[in-house]
Amino acid sequence: MIKRRKTVNVNVGGVWVGSDHPIVVQSMTNTDTADAEATAIQVAQLYNAGSEVVRITVNNKQSAAAVPEIVQRLEDIGIRVPLVGDFHYNGHILLREFPKTAELLAKYRINPGNVGVGDRHDENFATMIEVAKDFDKPVRIGVNWGSLDQSVLARMMDENVKLPEPRSGTDVMIDAMIVSALESAHYAESLGLKHDRIIISAKVSSAPELWQVYRLLAAKCDYPLHLGLTEAGMGDKGVVASTAGLSVLLAEGIGDTIRVSITPEPGAPRKKEVEVAQQILQSLGLRQFLPQVTACPGCGRTTSTLFQEMARDIQGYIKERMPEWKKTLPGVETMQVAVMGCIVNGPGESKHANIGISLPGTGEDPRAPVYQDGKLLTTLKGPRIVEEFQALLEAYVQKTYGAIVS
Ligand code: SF4
Repeated sequence: MIKRRKTVNVNVGGVWVGSDHPIVVQSMTNTDTADAEATAIQVAQLYNAGSEVVRITVNNKQSAAAVPEIVQRLEDIGIRVPLVGDFHYNGHILLREFPKTAELLAKYRINPGNVGVGDRHDENFATMIEVAKDFDKPVRIGVNWGSLDQSVLARMMDENVKLPEPRSGTDVMIDAMIVSALESAHYAESLGLKHDRIIISAKVSSAPELWQVYRLLAAKCDYPLHLGLTEAGMGDKGVVASTAGLSVLLAEGIGDTIRVSITPEPGAPRKKEVEVAQQILQSLGLRQFLPQVTACPGCGRTTSTLFQEMARDIQGYIKERMPEWKKTLPGVETMQVAVMGCIVNGPGESKHANIGISLPGTGEDPRAPVYQDGKLLTTLKGPRIVEEFQALLEAYVQKTYGAIVS
């Protein structure tokens, strides 16, 4: 059982982020925000995949002006999802110039390294905080390794060289990220922003450094923390790097909202980052989104590709049925399904699942025993095993989770 680090709770457009609430999955669009139609379509895709908060870039006047239309287009198709505006360099100007946008966004992301330099830094930062106060919005103080506030870094590097035993450059960078995030948060509070209107992130691109920075940050404050690597990469590398980086911290109870920053393959849907984030939380037992299909890896005992095809088809069937099941069958997301490749080890695993099937392995009788709630339900045989098992699965779902409703 993972014990979450205690934090205050922040309301992001109706979605709570903090230790009293489930860890929130968020995502980010990669469309040109000024293209309201394309952005609304992608936000809808991310939302339909399960993203509970979606961040959009607001980098110029055209993007800022498009936000009301994006929100309207989403409302027209019945979608209400908190949108976060990602601001760099000109957020103070855009938020003042486009009050409707400032009102419609659920949160503002501010990078203290990208709000200007010298006196302008504090002035621009203060303007964004004033707008947040005016519209009672939370902010994310989002520090990045690659765009660290240079004044904080320079100050800390100077202090470090004067030490009898100076620390490594990496350690000073990590400390500078934490100082930048916390000094900015305290400055925002000194300007009148409430303590429970602040979320913090401090993103780097390697898992061990992510653990280091977030463990230190977690020990120094009770602001909710947004976890993520700055850029995890593409394909398997991105998925594995994100899983390694986030899982260790989540298992320690650190992190209240996550985003998986994977680069999609050209032309691939953006929603993969949402599915990976959900899988990470589900694998750690922190949330349940989809019924879990336990499929054995297969070995020399499996006779054909039927087993792999069946595991894939069952997984696909569940994914396809889930949007409808979710509406009327509460608890279905906790279901465990087993698809095993032989009847030597398969039945044992099937008995632990809600419903499970074991296909015959090499030299085994061509029958597939099906277990339901730990007991042998039936034994399937013949060419329509997959379809017959899907029918049993559907009947089980309707009977078990439908009964909870009535
Ligand atoms: S359940 Fe059977 S087929 Fe699957 S990996 Fe184990 S022994 Fe091999």
